[in-house]
Amino acid sequence: MSIQNPVFIPGPTNIPEALRHAMNAPTRDHRAPDFVDLLKPLLADLKPVFGSTTAEVFLYPGTGTGGWEAALTNTLSPGDGVLVARYGMFSHKWIDMAQRHGLDVRVIETPWGEGAPAAAFEAALRADTEGRIKAVLVTHNETATGVRSDIAAVRAAMDAAGHGALLMVDGVSSIASMPFEMDAWGVDLAITGSQKGFMLYAGLGIVAASPKALAAMETACLPRTYFDFRDMLATTKTGGFPYTPPVQLLYGLRTALDMLNDEGLDAVYARHARLAEGVRRAVAAWGLKVVAARPELQSETVTAIYVPEGFDSNALVNHAFRAYGVSFGVGLGEMNGRAFRIGHLGMLTDVMVLSGLATIEMAMADLGYPVTLGTGVAAAQAYYRKTAGQALQAAA
Ligand SMILES: *Cc1c(COP(=O)(O)O)cnc(C)c1O
Repeated sequence: MSIQNPVFIPGPTNIPEALRHAMNAPTRDHRAPDFVDLLKPLLADLKPVFGSTTAEVFLYPGTGTGGWEAALTNTLSPGDGVLVARYGMFSHKWIDMAQRHGLDVRVIETPWGEGAPAAAFEAALRADTEGRIKAVLVTHNETATGVRSDIAAVRAAMDAAGHGALLMVDGVSSIASMPFEMDAWGVDLAITGSQKGFMLYAGLGIVAASPKALAAMETACLPRTYFDFRDMLATTKTGGFPYTPPVQLLYGLRTALDMLNDEGLDAVYARHARLAEGVRRAVAAWGLKVVAARPELQSETVTAIYVPEGFDSNALVNHAFRAYGVSFGVGLGEMNGRAFRIGHLGMLTDVMVLSGLATIEMAMADLGYPVTLGTGVAAAQAYYRKTAGQALQAAA
């Protein structure tokens, strides 16, 4: 076992000391009258992170996967049509969940490395003259491939087709690390969790629902109990919770929101973009290729990298862990064995990223990769040196 941090998996992310301390707290009575003082501001302060002024935010003991289920079951009915593209492990798993809930899932198979196909969505929605499609599901940041989809383009496609389906977006590995504009993009349900951009332990599924999603809730017939928005709304109105809330995680979330706001959300996004660019320059210097098919698709929170022909990415990730005690992301699904992932989200600095690049470079050299030791690190160093002043200015 290694407990060495930083980790370079794309979630759970490194937990800053301040957050670990915030979560080390004694029991608090969630039925005491002052629980509302903790809960209400949390729900309010999450909205700007989702990019919304009008959404209702739901906090569940759970994870992002629970958030998917909350979004589906609260707004849809058995047999409803759902339009979704499969382009990675996370879009795949959400599809599987929708199928298991008895939804009529229309899958657009999309090459891994590509993002949500707005034009294909538009065509499918135009062809749905009877309005059987009730929701479009999009994974904003496909963590398996390091691909960021253009949600505004999906919204534009839905509008161009004049279709009234709900737009549900998985933002688990983007929200709080990359710009997310729920209102501007017309997103009806946005989903995240506590252990990625919020830098906390796993244990919270966080869902934001638009007024349109809440209207759909009134007629939706899929069975739900634990995740029922209505129970949550009825209790949180008075500052309560329908069951025992993970209070220590809520303390952590309070401090995480304060940290994000102290840095400034725009500065947080800029930091992620800068760290990501350094990683991509390292990849280019190694002569390797990222999985994202085009530059505009490249994620700011995770980079998936093909290993050269004849190498096994699982062996590389295992070796980095065994030899140096540092974790990187394995290739998931179709990418298993073919690609590895460097997570660069949450509480990270350029110095921390350089340590990861140095480590994976050593691991590649150990395994005989055609990569020259130091080239990736040097490329990232050059970029971070060139842009360091800007970052310091922004922080001042
Ligand atoms: C991590 C992740 C999930 C799964 O969330 P859990 O919190 O593990 O349930 C879903 N979607 C994306 C894009 C993710 O990165």
